[in-house]
Amino acid sequence: MFSKCPGAANIRRPTIKTKDCPECAYEVEVFSDEVQVKCPGCGFIIYNNVQSCIQWCRYAIECVGEDKYKELTGN
Ligand SMILES: [Zn+2]
Repeated sequence: MFSKCPGAANIRRPTIKTKDCPECAYEVEVFSDEVQVKCPGCGFIIYNNVQSCIQWCRYAIECVGEDKYKELTGN
């Protein structure tokens, strides 16, 4: 049993936050486990920085689960 890495905590237990759309300044709600969100105001795709440790961590699959890993990596 390995200890869960802190980088994936926001994926296993999603939190919501708002980001300002760079195009129209709309406050877009982004869940911490979403890779990208479309701005309701203008349709601009806002990328979340959620993928960081999932991309390189060799424990990522066990850490967040296989389904979530596939969703985040697109595989
Ligand atoms: Zn926008």
